[in-house]
Formats: sequence, structure tokens, C-alpha cells
Amino acid sequence: MSTVPLLLDGQWTHPPAQSFGPVHNPCKGEIIAEVPMCGGAEVDAAVQSAKRAYASWSKTPVYDRVAVLFKYRHLLDEHFDELSRLIVRENGKTLEEARGDMRRGLEVADFACSIGETAKGEYLPELAAGIDAHTSREPIGVCAGITPFNFPAMVPMWMYPVAIACGNTFVLKPSEKVPLTANRLAELFLEAGLPEGVFNVVHGGREVVDALCGHPGIAAISFVGSTGVARHVYTEACKHGKRVQSAGGAKNVLLVLPDAELDATLQAILSSAFGCAGQRCMAGSLLMGVGHGDQLREQVVEAMNGLALGDTYDDPSAQMGPVIDDAARDRLFTSIADAEAEGLALARDGREGVPDAGFFVGPTLIDQVEPDRDIFREELFGPVLSMLHPETLDEAIAWFNQLPFGNAATLFTQDGNAARRFAREVECGMIGINLGVPAPVALFPFSGWDESFFGDLHVQGQEGVMFYTRQKTVLSRW
Ligand code: NAD
Repeated sequence: MSTVPLLLDGQWTHPPAQSFGPVHNPCKGEIIAEVPMCGGAEVDAAVQSAKRAYASWSKTPVYDRVAVLFKYRHLLDEHFDELSRLIVRENGKTLEEARGDMRRGLEVADFACSIGETAKGEYLPELAAGIDAHTSREPIGVCAGITPFNFPAMVPMWMYPVAIACGNTFVLKPSEKVPLTANRLAELFLEAGLPEGVFNVVHGGREVVDALCGHPGIAAISFVGSTGVARHVYTEACKHGKRVQSAGGAKNVLLVLPDAELDATLQAILSSAFGCAGQRCMAGSLLMGVGHGDQLREQVVEAMNGLALGDTYDDPSAQMGPVIDDAARDRLFTSIADAEAEGLALARDGREGVPDAGFFVGPTLIDQVEPDRDIFREELFGPVLSMLHPETLDEAIAWFNQLPFGNAATLFTQDGNAARRFAREVECGMIGINLGVPAPVALFPFSGWDESFFGDLHVQGQEGVMFYTRQKTVLSRW
């Protein structure tokens, strides 16, 4: 059994950990590695290493920083398939989904290569008589990233390539469920010529997170995970004077109007709700059919029956993989059982016909859900879709706007006016029109609202550059 090392000061090290957590291959249900559950001592070592490296990295000329990023970009491309396979191994998504995970991360690395342009300041001569003004965007210091299990490559890469390109140094605390991809991403960054200590990786859970939030050497924290932890990290890190961006959970709607183009809509519903086994913060989890009656439900169930659930690690024909671990599977089975006990209609029951080995939950559709049900409001984070039948577009929007979350809402229609009204009136940060997963790629902010995001500046795009820099304004008279 291999033990997952930490990256401190450019060295891979095995700390004297008190306890270890399991890393699974979720397709098999087997433990493939052990991850050390670190604490304050390892966090402090990582922060000290990042602080030392900051002294020179923050002064490294932009072209030299970008040269390392270009080399890194090249190495990620060269190792694309190996990394994608590693994602499948520890996360269980399909190889194509893992490639998507990598591609989205790579696009952020591409964006980071343009830091010379995106982090430029402004200049205004004669602000007053004989006085010129300019601003510059300066790095902020040691930044930390805390990430979830569902995108082992993309979510860490939302953070560290941009932070490091801006001249900061970084401590990553990846999900203890998927530490292997994070380590390989870090290893390639070293191979690209990143100086020691600029990028550090510490493994563990709550203890590491709390130590990061309270450490005086850390300037900023980026968090992505469930809402309860996102709120906790935001509160704790703000209390310690840090800049924080903290993304939480979601409950996203897929709303289908009577005039929607049905074949394309069905495909989009399927991939949104069941892609990555429903473990995406942009997954559609509420299906609302306006004026569709039972027909839409039957078509969706038929399409779900055609989805090949299976061992994505060994069987390339599998279209949907397992959930991350036995705890996630058991939690989802309980939610389905609770819905059944409440008298909701199980149009398709994902507890049936699942492989014995591994952590599988089949695609599930719960019909006749009303907005007063718990299942309407709670994030399930698995392949379980709830169906509602609003009478009108207005009713559907009003139902959606009751939700505490604000990540994504999608409308399927051919009516431009309905689409415009939907985009204007729905209260959330990412809107899709005839798209199942309206995830903005690297150039635009990943702009969740409400309980899906705590903070001011989101990851990705220009907001990411603003988050990882602070402005200096210089007035000069000569
Ligand atoms: P999680 O909240 O359990 O874990 C996220 C991180 O927080 C991990 O690194 C974990 O070690 C740490 N953590 C867990 N419990 C903690 C605690 N009590 N105190 C301090 N730290 C703790 O999330 P997950 O299960 O890994 O990922 C799924 C969640 O992430 C879903 O809710 C999903 O919606 C969300 N997510 C959100 C986005 C977004 O952009 N909004 C993107 C991806 C995932």
C-alpha cells in the first residue's frame, strides 16, 4: 500500500502522521493508497517554505514566470492521457469526463500564460498639474487552495496557475479522497522549472483546513466544496483577516418549455444530471417541464434506461461511473428511500441493478416533487434527478428563486423572449440557454451567488487575477 507524500520546499516528504485516510478506486471499492491526515505542523512547514520562495518569485520578471507556465502547459499536454487515467482511477468518472476535467484545467493554465496582459496596470498623465498617476497589480503573498473530490484537476487549476503567474506562492490542500492527481500536477510543475517552495501540497482534512484559515502567514484562501464547509472557511479565514473566495454547493434547474427541441434537450438533460455520476456543482438536479405532462418524464426515463452504468476504469463502454465512496452511495440510497417513504413517485430507482463491486448508484428520477419537499432544497450530489411540473414559466422561475443556492439555471426553448426573461429574472450567477451545463470556461468568472458562493471575487477570468493581486497607485511629480 503506497502512502501519499506531501510537497514541501520542493521535496516529496512523508510526515510522521498520526492517522491515514483511504484513497479508493471507486469502480472496484478497493483502497489504492493511504493519505496522511496532517495538521498544524505540516501547514506551518508549507507556509514557511512558500514565504521563503515568495521573496524571489514575487520579484521574478513576468516573462520568466510565464516561461515556466508555458513549459508546464506543454508537460500537461504531453501527460494528458496519463493524468486523465489517474483521475478515472481515484475518482471513477469516465475517461471522456476525465479528459474534460483536464481540458478545463489546461484552459486556466493557458489563461495564466497571458498574465503579462491581464495583470497590467493603468497610467494617466496630468492627474493634476505636473502630477502623473499609475497603478500596478502586485502579488499578495502566500495563497492557499482547498479543493473538493469531484474535479481532481480542474478545481485546483482554477486557483494555483493564476495565483503563481501573478507572483504569489501557493499551498494546495486537495481533497483527501483524490490526492494522487494533485501530486502528479505538482510534480510536473517542478519538472517545468518552478523554483522550490513556490508550490506546496499538504494532505489531510479539517485539521489542515482550520490551520490554513488561522495561519498568519497566509494572505488569501480559495475554497471549493460543500456549502457548510464553504461558509465555515469564509467565516474563519475572514476572521483572521484574509482575502477569501469560497464556493459552495448547488441545486440547479433544467427548465423545459413546450417548444424546446426535444432530441437535443434530452441529450442535454442526461449529460447534465448524470454526467460525472451527478457529482458536479453544475449538475442539473431539478427538472421542470412546463406543459409537458408525463411525456417528458417517460422520454427521460427511456433515455436513462439506455445509460450504461459500469466500471469506467476497465470498461471503455461504460457511460456512467460510480460515486466517490461507500458513504456517498449509502447517503444517496437513504435519500431515495426517504423520498419513497414520503410517497413521492420513483419513476426510475437507481438502487436496482447496480454492480456488486464498487460504489454504484444508478440514474434515478423522482417525480411529482413539490417545492415544499426537503428533496427540492437539499443538494444530493449524485445521479438523482427530481421532477416538478410547474404550470408556467413564471411559476417555475418563482420556485427556483426560493432556493438558497445560486449556481446555475438552464432553459430549453426556441422562444427568444422567454429566454431573455428567464436570464433576467432567475436569481443565480450562471445561466444556460439550450445548454445542460453552463459552466464558464477559463476566460469568464465561475460566478455562483447566494449559498453557492461566499466572497466578492470569483475564480477564473479577470476576477481571478484581481483576487490574486492588490493594487498600488503611484502619484509622481518630477
Ligand atoms: P467537502 O466540503 O466535503 O470537501 C471540500 C474540502 O473541504 C476538502 O478538501 C475537505 O478535506 C475539506 N473539508 C471537508 N469537511 C470539512 C470540515 N468539516 N471542515 C474543514 N474542511 C473540511 O466537499 P466534497 O464532498 O469534496 O465536494 C463536493 C461539494 O463541492 C459539493 O457540495 C459541490 O457542489 C461542491 N462543489 C462546488 C463547486 C463550485 O464551484 N461551487 C465546484 C465543485 C464542487
